Amino acid sequence: MRNFRLLLSLFLALSLPLGAFAQTAPGFVKPFAKEQMVAAANPLAADAGLEMLRAGGSAVDAAIAVQLVLGLVEPESSGIGGGAFMLLFDPKTKKTTSFDGREVAPASARPDMFLDPDGKVRTKPQAIPGGLSVGIPGVIAMLELAHSKHGKLPWARLFAPAIKLADEGFPVGPKLARTIRNFKRGANMPDIKARFYHADGTPLEQGEIYKNPDYADSLRKIASGGSKAFYTGEIAQAIVDKVRTAPVNQGGMTLADLASFKPLERAPVCGPYRIWRVCSMGPPSSGGIAIVQILGMLQRFPSSELQPGTLSEVHLRAQASRLAYADRARFIADPAFVKVPVKGLIDKDYIASRAALIDPAKDMGTASAGNPPEKHAAFSPQRSPANHGTSHMTLVDKTGQVVAMTTSVESVFGANIMVRGFFLNNTLTDFSLNPVLDGLPVANAPAPGKRPLSAMSPTIVFDQNGDFLLSVGSPGGPAIIGYVTQTVVAMLDGGKTPSEAITLPRQLNLNSPTRLEKSAVNDALEPQLKAMGHSVTVVMGEGSGLHGIRKVKGGYIGGADPRRDGVVIGD
Ligand code: GLU
Repeated sequence: MRNFRLLLSLFLALSLPLGAFAQTAPGFVKPFAKEQMVAAANPLAADAGLEMLRAGGSAVDAAIAVQLVLGLVEPESSGIGGGAFMLLFDPKTKKTTSFDGREVAPASARPDMFLDPDGKVRTKPQAIPGGLSVGIPGVIAMLELAHSKHGKLPWARLFAPAIKLADEGFPVGPKLARTIRNFKRGANMPDIKARFYHADGTPLEQGEIYKNPDYADSLRKIASGGSKAFYTGEIAQAIVDKVRTAPVNQGGMTLADLASFKPLERAPVCGPYRIWRVCSMGPPSSGGIAIVQILGMLQRFPSSELQPGTLSEVHLRAQASRLAYADRARFIADPAFVKVPVKGLIDKDYIASRAALIDPAKDMGTASAGNPPEKHAAFSPQRSPANHGTSHMTLVDKTGQVVAMTTSVESVFGANIMVRGFFLNNTLTDFSLNPVLDGLPVANAPAPGKRPLSAMSPTIVFDQNGDFLLSVGSPGGPAIIGYVTQTVVAMLDGGKTPSEAITLPRQLNLNSPTRLEKSAVNDALEPQLKAMGHSVTVVMGEGSGLHGIRKVKGGYIGGADPRRDGVVIGD
């Protein structure tokens, strides 16, 4: 399988008219790199990252260059109008930290902002487009904070590849072309129509050259003026104007909202898995807690029962996931607003008590939230379907600094409105659109200054000496937690390489029917799972976009999800 993919990548690399633009074709996975590696969702973006590493940049520098190019070449999935979480391992201190660039609700946000005039909850497709769903973008401020602490190259240098590509143009990649073609709703939004459709109404196709001089201009301003040039002045004014005059769902964002944005450095959430230690993103993401819980519960079972794609593995992972997703829906929201019982939820004895609920022979059905040993919050649902509004990158530099960053505009092309060459996010629809559920106030309801609950899970795993072992993350909304745990288990218990683990057919359980990605393995599992009491949903293709790196003897190997255009490159 790996050889086949390599050959295919090679064939594509040789046969595509890539000109001077990309050195690597979508899907290319470099088998091994001795000292530095980039795994990201697009070849042009990964190239920009490697260029920075080769110029002596840190993993943080490279991640910034990757992000700025992604905002151009994969604008449906992330950009400077969105938010991100970055997990960072610093080899000098052997410490892991996280940076929170999650979007924040403006002062005008209200718990009932997504109800219609009759008090009915709007559907997500109704609530997404326009200005109302736009949170204060966090990416630029967060990257600047990370750069101020861990950057080596000058800030402006990191902008050069993206500016050049935006000015000169690049051939539209397979995923962007597919997204434009399939995103029928977007065809009616003026900004998408103007940018991604020809005058005759046909969508831009793969290989056509796309330029974005407005984006180049925005980047030039931020390159020279820093985040101030984004959060104040012309760009900020353009964001405010756009949000307030959106073609649908106008919002109330102000210049004061933008000027008030503060990225945060937070302690990650970490926990043990057998001999390893796993760290991921804490609240306002539910990812870290859920992943530590799922792996913590799976420790009850031997590795032999967790071999990838076997009935016992899929069943046990589904059960542990049910329990973790139940807690996620009950306890987690923005910690600045809600007392999130992080310690209680990842408490060893609590996790063991949850694991004891797993019957190895029978599906438990819908799991209920537990009672962790700490005061807890109210109900916190985030109902976000898997979509294409997010991207994950993993990078390691020559010094061993590791960055895992998941970055998002939330839905496909965010709120479907553009400012100065970039899309604005719709991340406020990651709040519960309904502020009251089953008579309980919803912890993840919108409020001024609040960050919506996320599932983004940039994850790093360490070996018994505390040294870096592997890192992975994915888009996919709440399903991210399932994608990442499946991949980590496949690598740690199954001994799979990142490529093998990332390519596996997905099986998930979000505390609802067990979800199987259509494939021969899953076709065989389906009747067996049903016999164990699972109700099963088969999906045609999961929305994972996992990108990961693993340390091996003398260097690194990586993996890029074949479901997207990602690549792994390095030296
Ligand atoms: N906005 C989602 C979250 O923060 C991610 C959406 C996606 O993965 O496409 O959990």
